[in-house]
Amino acid sequence: MLGSIEAGGTKINCAVGHQDGTIVKQIQIATTTPDENVAQIVAFFQEHPVEAIGIGCFGPVNVDKESADYGSLLDTPKQQWRFYPFLATLKQQLAIPIELHSDVTVSGLGEVHLGGGKGDNFVLYVTIGTGIGGGVILNDQLLRSPRHPEMGHVTMQRVEGDQLVSVCPFHDNCFEGLASGPAIEKRWGKKGSELPPDHPAWEMEADYIAQGLLQMIVVLAPDRVIIGGGVMKQQQLLSRIREKVQEKLNGYTYYDRLENMEQLIITPVLGDDAGLIGGLLLADYANNM
Ligand code: ADP
Ligand code: ZN
Repeated sequence: MLGSIEAGGTKINCAVGHQDGTIVKQIQIATTTPDENVAQIVAFFQEHPVEAIGIGCFGPVNVDKESADYGSLLDTPKQQWRFYPFLATLKQQLAIPIELHSDVTVSGLGEVHLGGGKGDNFVLYVTIGTGIGGGVILNDQLLRSPRHPEMGHVTMQRVEGDQLVSVCPFHDNCFEGLASGPAIEKRWGKKGSELPPDHPAWEMEADYIAQGLLQMIVVLAPDRVIIGGGVMKQQQLLSRIREKVQEKLNGYTYYDRLENMEQLIITPVLGDDAGLIGGLLLADYANNM
């Protein structure tokens, strides 16, 4: 049996299951303090013993396996978690192999093995949620440089008439600052989930997402781009994003997939389970080290 932890800023999901992605048992706990959460996680895995665990963790987090601080949180806005040695504490208490990467990359791993990116060598996974982040899976390896990629702060060209004061504390015109869930809510005064599918918000959103993806695509030249996260629950976005990426490429066809947007850009098929399933796969990596 393998274990999986999807540690987010508001909730932590823990599961036990198998490397084929089957989840046997799972729990959800609220993210509070590291001490309290670790005690809950340890109790769960004592009750449901596993051979190894894979963790997808909110960031920024140290993902450098060579570092003494591998699996420690970095300078996160969640004060109590800043610099907390998450992986080391769990390893000490559970005494089994555990691997950790960013939540985004681990969800991407799930999609590459068992979802829409099956068989692709080079996948970019982007999430548009409370934040915007990207992960890269290349030949079954999770990119650690030794850091995990972030990608949400690439520069946007403002859509005409968009006066929003960016929600990013660092940048007036970045992807996360203009196109994350909180940016949508601030701009239109309502949560994205409350805006109707034909609201002008989505045309603007599709433009920003297309700009962000375009930059990532021309830099990385991936086989596949998978876009997930809460905002992508707006199903009308995908086709507009594909059209707009195509328009913005403006005839640039460096490789075949750039001529087939339906193949290049997809949404996750594992849905909300991608992170936990990715964690099971990462646990399998940890087990085979
Ligand atoms: P997180 O990024 O916090 O891990 P999500 O990926 O679910 O979690 O993203 C949450 C964000 O997505 C929130 O800003 C929320 O308003 C937005 N969101 C959630 N559901 C929808 C929806 N159906 N339509 C548009 N936006 C949504
Ligand atoms: Zn920014």
